[in-house]
Amino acid sequence: MTTPADSGGRPAALPLLRGQKALVTGANSGIGLATAIALGRAGADVVVNYVFGREAAEDVVSKIQSFGVRAFAHEADVSDEGQIVGMFARMMEEFGTIDVLVANAGLQRDAALTDMTVEQWHKVIDVNLTGQFLCAREAAKEFLRRGVVPEVSRSAGKIVCMSSVHQIIPWSGHVNYAASKGGVLMLMQTLAQELGPHGIRVNAVAPGAIRTPINRSAWDTPEAEQELLKLIPYRRVGDPEDIADAVTVLASDLMDYVVGATLYVDGGMTLFPGFATGG
Ligand code: NAP
Repeated sequence: MTTPADSGGRPAALPLLRGQKALVTGANSGIGLATAIALGRAGADVVVNYVFGREAAEDVVSKIQSFGVRAFAHEADVSDEGQIVGMFARMMEEFGTIDVLVANAGLQRDAALTDMTVEQWHKVIDVNLTGQFLCAREAAKEFLRRGVVPEVSRSAGKIVCMSSVHQIIPWSGHVNYAASKGGVLMLMQTLAQELGPHGIRVNAVAPGAIRTPINRSAWDTPEAEQELLKLIPYRRVGDPEDIADAVTVLASDLMDYVVGATLYVDGGMTLFPGFATGG
């Protein structure tokens, strides 16, 4: 497996996922984009899901194909049951099966509680939580049908839920988002408990502050970045590749005994940084 120059200067990953088939939702931007590329670099064939940005998704496909693996882009709204069933049907046709689902797609519709519309509430819950449920359900059907293929992986399938530090940190002005990620925590743990006996591993990655379009206003001026850094003991804003690498290892057999866990990739944001000098 070669590592083209566009690998962002990161060390060449071992082909940890050689021969595996992966699907990443929201893979045309930010964390999902970096994750789809990392999985391809690790040897997986990858479905690049997107909802609006077709051109960006096709760019991701080209990058993944440059690693000598297969990839295609598929437009589907993760909150639409018919579109998700259709996306998995196409993946079965083209790749034959699925080994790794990264349920990553997500968005924010921020407002103070008293200004938040029910549409803003539903949109965020539908995409961030129902979208993960639908994708996990369809992936699990195939994992259960196929079972373990020892030459491919020790596990019958892996689901990585993209959560957030806000699955445990309350967030004023973002009640829809925090509730959706709190829901992802219990979705992930319940699925891990339900599917574990079938050899399926379900886990989550919980990013802290990562430099992507979803949170641009939190880091795109020096003043905003300084404020943000106060919340991060490690004193740097994360890059999408920090999350992509964590997902790749978590989905691989190196982590085969990790079940129902959340891997916080947050520079220490969940360490109550306000207590570093007081309390
Ligand atoms: P991003 O750059 O805005 O990417 C969001 C992705 O989700 C885009 O690819 C978008 O596709 C896709 N998406 C949105 N609605 C969708 C839908 N209905 N169906 C399918 N795809 C949809 O944001 P990001 O930071 O990479 O976020 C990715 C995940 O990480 C989210 O779950 C987010 O909550 C989580 N996260 C991010 C941070 C952070 O600091 N950035 C921290 C914690 C957790 P289109 O571009 O086509 O709309």
